[in-house]
Amino acid sequence: MVVNQNQNTHVLMVSAALQGHLNPLLKFATCLISKGILVTIATTELGRHRMLKHAAVAANPSIKLEFFSDGLDVEFDRESNYDHWLETLRTKGRENFSNLTTELSQHTKFSCLILHQFVPWFIPVAKEHNIPCAVLWIQPCALYSIYYRFFNKLNDFSILQNPNQPLELPGHPLMELQDLPSFILPNIHLCFQKLLSEFFTYLLDVKWVLGTSFEELEEEVLEVMAGDGVRPMITTVGPLVSGFLLGKKEESGVSVDMWKADESCLKWLDGKELGSVVYVSFGSIIVLGQQQVENIAMGLLKSGKAFLWVFKRTAGSAVELPTGFLDAVGERGLVVNWCSQEQVLKHKAVGCFLTHCGWNSTLETVVTGVPVIAFPEWTDQPTNAKLLTDVFKMGVRLRKRDDGIVSSEEVERCIREITEGPAAEAMAKRAAELKEAAKKAVENGGSSHRHLEKFVSDIVG
Ligand code: UDP
Repeated sequence: MVVNQNQNTHVLMVSAALQGHLNPLLKFATCLISKGILVTIATTELGRHRMLKHAAVAANPSIKLEFFSDGLDVEFDRESNYDHWLETLRTKGRENFSNLTTELSQHTKFSCLILHQFVPWFIPVAKEHNIPCAVLWIQPCALYSIYYRFFNKLNDFSILQNPNQPLELPGHPLMELQDLPSFILPNIHLCFQKLLSEFFTYLLDVKWVLGTSFEELEEEVLEVMAGDGVRPMITTVGPLVSGFLLGKKEESGVSVDMWKADESCLKWLDGKELGSVVYVSFGSIIVLGQQQVENIAMGLLKSGKAFLWVFKRTAGSAVELPTGFLDAVGERGLVVNWCSQEQVLKHKAVGCFLTHCGWNSTLETVVTGVPVIAFPEWTDQPTNAKLLTDVFKMGVRLRKRDDGIVSSEEVERCIREITEGPAAEAMAKRAAELKEAAKKAVENGGSSHRHLEKFVSDIVG
């Protein structure tokens, strides 16, 4: 594809201002820009504050930023009031985004509107403005398969009424209740269930579904979906992570960070032995309770291993590390508020990752070949944990007690399981193989490279 030929092609992207939702779009924007395509990203006013703080985005001349109101004040605590927020985004946000699209379309002809599954209400906006619509599916293809089957009522989900009966879906391992995405469980997260149900009703107006995963990682589920005539079929263009993780020469990565990364941990890692450090992080949203934090702390302490723990101190949370913990671990452990996770996972000293299995973290650990201890909480995380242990075969999962908490003994047991003995070696080998497969997928002629070229030629026309 000749880059210069594409310079009249302009795409519009839209997302709410959540880090985990914006970053995959920004990474995809970087891929499109490398093909000569111009990109405008529209996000909510809250994003103005979050993105403009970050020089990498603000100073990137190839990305034009536009903002619209989701109908709420910037100060409104959206993450504690999902119901209200999603409803205003659905009504006011949709109206404001539509007005913005009208305004922008006066001087720019957009070849495509690209959005992700968590803002389905903007699909009809694309239709109203006669702009072809693409979805960037920012979770594994396995989730597209599960949701597609669930919301289109194609399979038997009686596990939801009878939790002892495992779920059998074509292309998936046998799943228990604890492996299912929490958005399909009855009586919880109903606003997200409604949102996804709307997504699947609008799907007929979507021309392309592009997955941030890669083909070699999810071969079986992709083959079965293709065979079952899933429409639109999902095509993978990932792994969508920063280029430097895939061996590409690249700027430090165009992304938004909610907090400032503590760079001292990279120096600290330099002083540790190869593969000796347990990296611990639960992403940007989850806040653990006091008892759980204490059990993790004691498990890490008793394991005797070195560790780097991202322990976010959020406003309004009184959760603290156990008294005397930091003194007891001394040089063996480091606790930071936030780090450059991709840099940390790439560091040779990191041997395993105790993770909540958010999809971005999952892709990053696959690409860096770091085996995991899975500690999923909600949304796609339980299914991602199942993928990591049973499909990718590069991890173990922490078992919760009946009260929903993981004990310190269990933390210690899993650290041993992932770092010692023949099973640990097999998982490390598998992680190393997937790391190579990820690199190949994005190289010239690789699966994701081909899919990206095809998408670009489709929109360039
Ligand atoms: N992350 C980071 N520093 C940290 C912890 C996380 O940069 O200290 C990044 C991580 O690399 C990933 C994102 O935050 O890209 C978290 O996304 P994920 O989908 O894993 O989880 P979420 O935060 O959406 O629950």
